Amino acid sequence: MDARLEAIRDTVLARNPGEGEFHQAVTEVFDSLGPVHDRHPEFLEAAILERLCEPERQIIFRVPWTDDAGRVRINRGFRVEFNSALGPYKGGLRFHPSVYLGIVKFLGFEQIFKNALTGMPIGGGKGGSDFDPRGRSDAEVMRFCQSFMTELYRHIGEYTDVPAGDIGVGGREIGYLFGQYKRITNRYESGVLTGKGISWGGSLVRPEATGYGTVIFTQEMLKTRGASFDGQRVVVSGSGNVAINAIAKAQSLGATVVACSDSSGYIVDEAGIDVGLLRQIKEVERGRLKDYEARRSAVSYVDGGSVWDVNATVALPCATQNELDGDAAARLVRNGLLAIGEGANMPSTRDAVAVFQDARVLFGPGKAANAGGVATSALEMQQNASRDSWSFAHTEQRLTEIMVGIHDRCAATADEYGDPGNYVLGANIGGFVKVADAMLAQGLI
Ligand code: GLU
Repeated sequence: MDARLEAIRDTVLARNPGEGEFHQAVTEVFDSLGPVHDRHPEFLEAAILERLCEPERQIIFRVPWTDDAGRVRINRGFRVEFNSALGPYKGGLRFHPSVYLGIVKFLGFEQIFKNALTGMPIGGGKGGSDFDPRGRSDAEVMRFCQSFMTELYRHIGEYTDVPAGDIGVGGREIGYLFGQYKRITNRYESGVLTGKGISWGGSLVRPEATGYGTVIFTQEMLKTRGASFDGQRVVVSGSGNVAINAIAKAQSLGATVVACSDSSGYIVDEAGIDVGLLRQIKEVERGRLKDYEARRSAVSYVDGGSVWDVNATVALPCATQNELDGDAAARLVRNGLLAIGEGANMPSTRDAVAVFQDARVLFGPGKAANAGGVATSALEMQQNASRDSWSFAHTEQRLTEIMVGIHDRCAATADEYGDPGNYVLGANIGGFVKVADAMLAQGLI
């Protein structure tokens, strides 16, 4: 890393102790930014990096609720409003027991660059709670969401901060959150949340967008090597919203997706995963992946273990941060990997990224490859602002244009900075310069 940037990075790390994932995300971005600061000394003079690493506002709050047995429960809520140079803070809410400030800050930091890359007018933010929705009844989830919004509402708004979903927050949770916001504020403010239901201000394609976008981005990378998804053998990690829609899109382009996983294990289905069955189990029944094995022939379920043991030509990590380490990366490369597109946020460790880059595997980092979700959220905001609702085909067309645009911008930036095919460099520099220019123009704030 450039020595000037390293000094700034060290200060950021010392100032934010115990936030490992945030440290990792900052280090990964700073690794790419040396050459930009050679060309733009004004960014150093204006302390752009120091300002970028300090969120504009951080809100931490108590979320009290009662479970179905009447027992009082307490969780911790977060919203980190990181950067508003390009638009209102925008980013999802994650409900998962692992959530703490370091996770929210890594996600919020990544979101700044991701959102800049989409070309849409959105800043970066993220939030969530250590609440675990798994095993909770709808009534418990509703009471939790209502309590969460009872504090959050005063910090958000269509021109201020626009939350959406992430792990553990889907259409059900967004519904309860929106209902409570409307009730407290007495405003039908559609643009305050995205990922809404289609009959009440949501956008078609939003549920599919992150997974579809990841596949579209990866397809563009494959094209640079004269390949496509057609005939590829694909392994996906995860089996939530992003994974399911990535599987569907990859298979529609002629790939065979042979494996996917959940936190307990993975399935191998050599005939290609039956997306309808997977949706039924995961989305309708809210069940576990293990149930898939019994309901389809010639499927093996591996309890525990790593889905990255399954050989593939394309890998799509769509589960969570740091799910793919250096050893797994080396195994995938040995087994003939051609490309990897990150549907999750920071799923590859720094070691894994180094392995992929050394092997010249096509590597699409999450902040570029999974930007289709938030980009379609911005399309939802656009529809809400004009009180319009677009067709599936039109919205999907817009998503495709945005993903191809992100790919091309990353590739062109990598070329411009003398490292063709380095999408990490392209994404980090491409996102950063846009935000840095806007921050300079808006003065010291
Ligand atoms: N949580 C998603 C992400 O990581 C989407 C955020 C949004 O739609 O605002 O980008």
